[in-house]
Amino acid sequence: MADNTCNCSHRQCTFSGEERLCEMLDRAGVPHDGKWRTLVFYMRGLGEFSTLNDVQKARIQQLLVDVLHRRDFSEQSYHDVLRADRDIRVEPYECRMREALQETERLAREFRAMLHQRRGDMDKLEQDSVRAVESGLDPAEVVRLLRATFSEVREQMDNDAIRVGELTVTDPLTGLGNRRAFDTALAAGEAAWKGGMALALVLFDVDRFKRINDQHGHRIGDQVLRTVAEVLRRKVDDCNRGVDAGAGGGEGAGECASVVARYGGEEFALVLTGEGALRAGEIAESVRVGLEGVSFAIRDGQGQVVEHGVRVTLSAGVAHARPGMAESLPDRLFDLADTALYEAKREGRNRVRVAVGAT
Ligand code: GH3
Ligand code: MG
Ligand code: MG
Repeated sequence: MADNTCNCSHRQCTFSGEERLCEMLDRAGVPHDGKWRTLVFYMRGLGEFSTLNDVQKARIQQLLVDVLHRRDFSEQSYHDVLRADRDIRVEPYECRMREALQETERLAREFRAMLHQRRGDMDKLEQDSVRAVESGLDPAEVVRLLRATFSEVREQMDNDAIRVGELTVTDPLTGLGNRRAFDTALAAGEAAWKGGMALALVLFDVDRFKRINDQHGHRIGDQVLRTVAEVLRRKVDDCNRGVDAGAGGGEGAGECASVVARYGGEEFALVLTGEGALRAGEIAESVRVGLEGVSFAIRDGQGQVVEHGVRVTLSAGVAHARPGMAESLPDRLFDLADTALYEAKREGRNRVRVAVGAT
């Protein structure tokens, strides 16, 4: 026989030009059955999938490595791999959907409470009005009383409108801006940039946050997120007040307009315009150092400290708007910052990487 090492190279293999891979698959015991081989080629080509991030790609490829290790090519194993592959691909979307639903529920609850409150105010208004008319007071005094009561209710309704506006752009866990606030800030930054101002975007991601949840529970994870948000808020306030939020500290950092938001999960975003944008890398580094210096004490449900000195770090990716990005600036800026963040993770985490050279 001319070729009995690679059974898939002729009749059984539909993937021409892949003889060496076929040989490897034969040696690994992968059946000639088309579906397993198709799966292998799909996994091999994952690098081209722009909708998946590198972590997702690695996790999907690991599924195949596990199967090869176990040499389990059963029907069940095949379906398990497909299901796990699907779960990994849709996880980020499911997570966002869950967050969006939770936010909608929260807003609905707040609105209901407000309406309930206003309903009570209307009842009181009705009673006060009847009482004023029946009081036998001078009509001018009755009118004055009614005006005052109506004006109070109108003021409360105006406050409601402001509060509703705030709620829709606030992240309930940390009190920072939410994803919607981020989109608005980036759009405003784009307009400022088109008007000649500098613009930069910093993406922060807490390092190994899943581990914090796994080791200490979700409640502690939430507290960590609140602390991270507080560190960010302080640095941003410094920057906006003109106090140098860079590594050196001190006054007189120049004009800085910045908005910080919780982008989602354990990810935060900082939009910087003006002078602050030029020092975006420094500001990001200052946030990183600020969090590094925080020592967390873990408390149980009764408030007793159960562990001291827990450290949490974050990584950051920075991108500056440049002339060549005028087309779809927000997306390009985000992709650049995201890639820089990925570099920071890849290089060991707890560091800031600035995207360079993009025009
Ligand atoms: P990396 O350093 O690569 O970023 O690792 P990581 O563990 O931080 O990243 P990964 O994406 O694997 O995990 C993020 C975790 O964040 C998973 C998710 O359960 C958790 N998370 C997302 N939102 C919240 C939240 O509101 N509260 C808590 N406690 N955890 C959250
Ligand atoms: Mg993340
Ligand atoms: Mg993370």
